[in-house]
Amino acid sequence: NKKQDLLEKAYQMNDLTKEEIIALLESITPEDRENLFSKALKTKEKYYGDKVYLRGLIEFSNICRQDCLYCGIRASNTKVERYRLTPQDILACCDQGYELGYRTFVLQSGEDLWYTEEILTDLIRQIKNRYDQEIAVTLSIGQRDAEIYRSLFASGADRFLMRHETASEALYERLHPTMRFEERRACLDTLKEIGYQVGAGFMVGLPGQTSADLAEDLLYLKKLHPDMIGIGPFIPHSETPLGTEKGGTVEDTLVMVALARLLIPDSLIPATTALGTLHPLGREMALQAGANVVMPIITPTSVRKKYALYENKICGDDHPEDCRYCIERRIQAVGQKVDLGRGDSWKFIAKG
Ligand code: SAM
Repeated sequence: NKKQDLLEKAYQMNDLTKEEIIALLESITPEDRENLFSKALKTKEKYYGDKVYLRGLIEFSNICRQDCLYCGIRASNTKVERYRLTPQDILACCDQGYELGYRTFVLQSGEDLWYTEEILTDLIRQIKNRYDQEIAVTLSIGQRDAEIYRSLFASGADRFLMRHETASEALYERLHPTMRFEERRACLDTLKEIGYQVGAGFMVGLPGQTSADLAEDLLYLKKLHPDMIGIGPFIPHSETPLGTEKGGTVEDTLVMVALARLLIPDSLIPATTALGTLHPLGREMALQAGANVVMPIITPTSVRKKYALYENKICGDDHPEDCRYCIERRIQAVGQKVDLGRGDSWKFIAKG
């Protein structure tokens, strides 16, 4: 059977052509999916064992200068109540996260220029010098000048997450009226060059996205070879221009997670909150299809619901400690183990 051969090839060689990926995506059956997921899980185990890394996610501002058509905190959405955590607030979140055992803090926000180079470098230095054990700081703050990326890295930031969103230039330009396809990719190249552990990634089920586009996403990632790959379903938000579109499905997203694991086998792949929002066991299913990271939210409960990239996002009323132990139970329920280390990528560790 041709599809079984293709899956075997992906598993053995960590490689597929664009045509092969498209062929798989267009004719995949439930049995093929099970086969794919079990190969992806085995591949993950080969590199990372049964470990799952946790990152404490701090959503520190929902103010954004960009206007991405899909995003609930886009600049044009006047219905969002905007908030901005002060550096003191962010440090308090880190302290609480550190107490809960997290050794990576992901600082994520809209593109909010209130956080100047000076404020950010000062904050990063304070976080890095604050604790007995070494921690990693990950930034996910969107596009800035190369000099700023450089000075944030010099002040101690370890990693940077910036999804490429889609590898289709036409689709990218349609969805991002205030951003350019080439510029986003150039940012990723710059971040990598500076020395960050870089996370790229994309959404599944975007309006107009084809199997060929998804194949390009995987091939782009294979070429970029980032340390991390975030893949989540597109979930429509009613206060955006895409509010009435259909969203991505759990099945399609899991297939892309598993294929990413086979094609870029040493990468860190989160089981995303968006998957957990589509299905109560979405993140667990991702962990059984090749994902090996979970990013529990440690944003203060008072502002959580305002960071609504999409609607019905899970954990809106939870407190950081609820998420910490809820996640641990979920990971154990699928026979895997929480690892509270820094959780660097295989590639990063191998580089020494
Ligand atoms: N502003 C930073 C950036 O652009 O990298 C970080 C924050 S941004 C809100 C984080 C990610 O949320 C985006 O990369 C995008 O993939 C995802 N996202 C936004 N709206 C979404 C939606 N409606 N459904 C699913 N994911 C969404």
